[in-house]
Amino acid sequence: MEKIVIITGASRGIGREIAKRLAKKGLKVIANYNKSEEAAKELKSELKQEGIKIDIVKADVSKREEAKKLAKYALDKYGKIDVLINNAGISEYKLFTDETDEDWDKIINTNLYSAFAMSQEVIPNMVHNKNGLIINMSSAWGVVGGSLEVIYSVSKAGMDGLTKALAKELGPSSIRVNSIAPGMIYTKMNEKFTSEEIEEIKEEIPLGKIGEAQDISKCVEWLIEDKYTTGQVISINGGWIIT
Ligand code: NAP
Repeated sequence: MEKIVIITGASRGIGREIAKRLAKKGLKVIANYNKSEEAAKELKSELKQEGIKIDIVKADVSKREEAKKLAKYALDKYGKIDVLINNAGISEYKLFTDETDEDWDKIINTNLYSAFAMSQEVIPNMVHNKNGLIINMSSAWGVVGGSLEVIYSVSKAGMDGLTKALAKELGPSSIRVNSIAPGMIYTKMNEKFTSEEIEEIKEEIPLGKIGEAQDISKCVEWLIEDKYTTGQVISINGGWIIT
C-alpha cells in the first residue's frame, strides 16, 4: 500500500511544495491548512489536472482537538500514517521587550505545541506498525538564534529538542524523527524584508542566493527513502550558518 503522509501548513510555501513533490512521487498526501482555504483548494485542483488526488483538511494544529481531528481523518480513511511533517509555522519580527504573553502563546502554540500534539496523535499508530517518520520543520534560528525573532527561535530550538529526545525514545519502534532547519527560503514568510534587505542577506550567504522551497522538499523526499538517519537537525541554508 502507498505511504500515507500528513503535512501541516501545506496551503502555501514550503509545505505546499513538499505536498506537490510527494504526491507526484505517488505518496498519499493529506495536506493541512488553516486559514488559506482557497490556496488549499487550488493545490488540490492543480494536482487533479495531472491525475493526482490529494486530501485537504482544515485544522488549526495549534489546538489539541483540531490536531486530533486531522490525525483521525487520516486514520479513519487510510488506517495508518507513515510520515508526519510538522511544517505549520508563523514568524514574528519584534524587539524582545515589545513581545507580549499573547505573542508567546501564539508562536509557541503554532510552531512547537502543534508538533507535540500532532506527534502524540500519530505515534500510537506508528508504534503499532513499527514504522514511521516524523519531520519537524525547524529553522536556522533554532540553531543559532535570530535577533528580533526571539520567541520564534525558542520555538524552533524546542522543536529540535523534541526531535532529538523523541528519536531516542522511538528508535526501538523503528520510528525516525528528524528536523530540517532551513536558512532563508523564498516564501510569504519573508515578505516582511525589503529587496535591499534581501540583497544584504544574499551577501552573507556563501552560495550567494536565497533558497527555494524545492531545496527543502528534495530533502524531505530523501529522508522518506532513507532508513538510518534519526535525531538529526539537517541544515539547508547555502552555507549561511555553519556550526
Ligand atoms: P508560509 O508561506 O508563511 O506558510 C506557512 C504555512 O503554515 C501556511 O500554509 C499556513 O496555513 C500554515 N499555518 C500557520 N498557522 C497554522 C495553524 N495554526 N494550523 C495549520 N496551519 C497553519 O511559511 P513557509 O516559509 O512556507 O514556512 C513553512 C515552515 O518552514 C514554517 O514552520 C517556518 O517556520 C519554516 N521555515 C521557513 C523559512 C523561510 O525562510 N521561509 C526558514 C526557516 C524555517 P494557512 O495560511 O492556511 O493558515
